Amino acid sequence: MRRIVHIIKAPIISLFIGLPFVSAEEPRTPYVLVLGTAQDGGLPQLACPCGHCQAARADSKRARHIASLLIVDPERGQRWLIDATPDLRRQYDLAAQLGAVRPPSQGRPPLFDGIFLTHAHTGHYLGLAQLGRPAYNAQGQLVYASQRMCRYLANNGPWKLLVQSKNLILQPVEPGKAVDLGSGIKVTPLLVPHRAEFTDTFAYLIEGPTKRLLYIPDIDKWERWDVRVEDRIRDVDYALIDGTFFADGEVPGRKMSEIPHPFVIESLRRFAKLPRAERNKIWFTHLNHTNPLLDRTSNASKRVRQAGFHVARDGDRFKL
Ligand SMILES: [Zn+2]
Ligand SMILES: [Zn+2]
Repeated sequence: MRRIVHIIKAPIISLFIGLPFVSAEEPRTPYVLVLGTAQDGGLPQLACPCGHCQAARADSKRARHIASLLIVDPERGQRWLIDATPDLRRQYDLAAQLGAVRPPSQGRPPLFDGIFLTHAHTGHYLGLAQLGRPAYNAQGQLVYASQRMCRYLANNGPWKLLVQSKNLILQPVEPGKAVDLGSGIKVTPLLVPHRAEFTDTFAYLIEGPTKRLLYIPDIDKWERWDVRVEDRIRDVDYALIDGTFFADGEVPGRKMSEIPHPFVIESLRRFAKLPRAERNKIWFTHLNHTNPLLDRTSNASKRVRQAGFHVARDGDRFKL
């Protein structure tokens, strides 16, 4: 399967960091724009001398923003962000350059029609700080999150200041209950097992007028979910899933059982039984800086492609 509306040959613009070549032309129907595909630490990671981080520093096209999506309805000029990452400033600029957001001409109106948060690990919500007084000072940015995540934001600094100042308006949402965004777009939170130091974790099902996309950037292991992930994949057109680590032992000096994710090789094994059309729906994202899938020429990347899967890239677009 070819990529949906993205990686169009020309006109080519190369934006800031980490972006593949992307078309400046915006589709007319609702779509999802991938704003980031790196694990919480980003790429390059702070002070990391590893090959992938050095390559990303030397060539900005090999850098990546932290995992995030933007749902866009061009007709109504509306957009919703999934996760506010520490890279939010650059991701907003990327979205603006692609015509997916239109920066306000005056005042501090909400930049998004809503922000859906997955959980309170650093890569997924620290960007909210950019909406507070020292920065954008948003007036009433709507934020959808789990009850627990809303409580966490309302009760802990610095977030509670943003809530008290009404920079953020928290709207708790429940797993399995769709949020209707109009024009045939719906977003449904799904509860997934993931290290819950501060909050629980949501995945999201994003439904558009014609297509459905499943987004699971973080999950501990497929077997720990009380849902068969294959059943979820069957019901969608695209599944952007946790591909944090390619294989065990990849992070030197770290016990990887303490940071559980489905290894990509486990996913390849598990999904090998699926028909090709099902495997073709799967895109790995949330890649750690150690993951060989960051290098498109690596054996791991070839193996993933040959098995019928994909690796998501910043700037990819998926028609809804
Ligand atoms: Zn994460
Ligand atoms: Zn996490």
